[in-house]
Amino acid sequence: MVLSRRILDLERDERLRYVLILKNQGWAAGSALNHTHSQIIATPVIPKLVKEKLDGAKSYYDYKERCIFCDMIRQELADAARVVEETRHFIVFTPFAPRFPFEVWIYPKKHSCAYADISKEEMMDFSRSLRNTLQRIGKTLDNPPYNYILYTAPIAFRAAATGTP
Ligand SMILES: [Zn+2]
Repeated sequence: MVLSRRILDLERDERLRYVLILKNQGWAAGSALNHTHSQIIATPVIPKLVKEKLDGAKSYYDYKERCIFCDMIRQELADAARVVEETRHFIVFTPFAPRFPFEVWIYPKKHSCAYADISKEEMMDFSRSLRNTLQRIGKTLDNPPYNYILYTAPIAFRAAATGTP
């Protein structure tokens, strides 16, 4: 809950467009400090990797009039070949075309664009899914270095979707 509260705080700053949460665990170059805290980076621009995802989702919506993420979840659950774990609120799966070795995605099953809107119950579920996923990777690959990134809607998008000024 600490992170979602922090995001809500940052969203009040009208200079900011995006709040990025990430963690580099064990990378020689990536983590200057040898601890496991997540970092929060708030920026006045939308990061390129987020912009590309949003543009992709928009093109898909323009073409099919459906949410690409909800479609992806439906397909992964029906197929089940790449599903690592399914909980009440989340699905953990390996993407069809991963960009990195052992890439894993955790998606909310509910159509929702912003991490800060997560409920307490969903948060508990999400924390468990994330912990299980990191433990599985650690156990299988002998504690490798890893990155994770938390994708959420840019601030203006969330405001438009929820009616928040
Ligand atoms: Zn959706």
